[in-house]
Amino acid sequence: MASDAENFWETKRLAELNEEEWELICDHCGRCCLHKIKNEESGEVFFTCIACKLYDLENGGCRDYEHRKQIVPECVVLSAKRVAELDSLPMTCAYRLLHERKPLPPWHPLVSGSKKSVMEAGISIDLFAISETAIDLDRLDEFVLDRKL
Ligand code: SF4
Ligand code: SF4
Repeated sequence: MASDAENFWETKRLAELNEEEWELICDHCGRCCLHKIKNEESGEVFFTCIACKLYDLENGGCRDYEHRKQIVPECVVLSAKRVAELDSLPMTCAYRLLHERKPLPPWHPLVSGSKKSVMEAGISIDLFAISETAIDLDRLDEFVLDRKL
């Protein structure tokens, strides 16, 4: 059983979730695995369409979730505290939404009952991202998305 509480994401704060509930909150959109560029003056964060080298664009998800921090030191391991501190999480990120006390969207698997709904709603990066292994990262600014994520 995933949780001891029905619709736990509506009743619990992030810090109160158990490990299994915490993992269920992630919709696996992959948006947090995109490279970002921050304007140091304004603090504004711009997402690019370039995905981390460990992101699996064919099957979705991190290729080595368990060891990700060793392989990609800049990978952000989320916790309730980190979610509260970060200004670079996508606006659709389920952790961000719950931290801001907003409801999960209809396409979130916990609401829709299907993992496919993230792809069908056009939220998954698998639809448009390019792996960083395919480009010269010095040219990252050429890949900034013209929309907010
Ligand atoms: S290491 Fe894995 S989880 Fe971290 S950013 Fe890269 S693909 Fe995403
Ligand atoms: S942006 Fe949020 S919901 Fe999407 S994969 Fe990253 S942590 Fe999970």
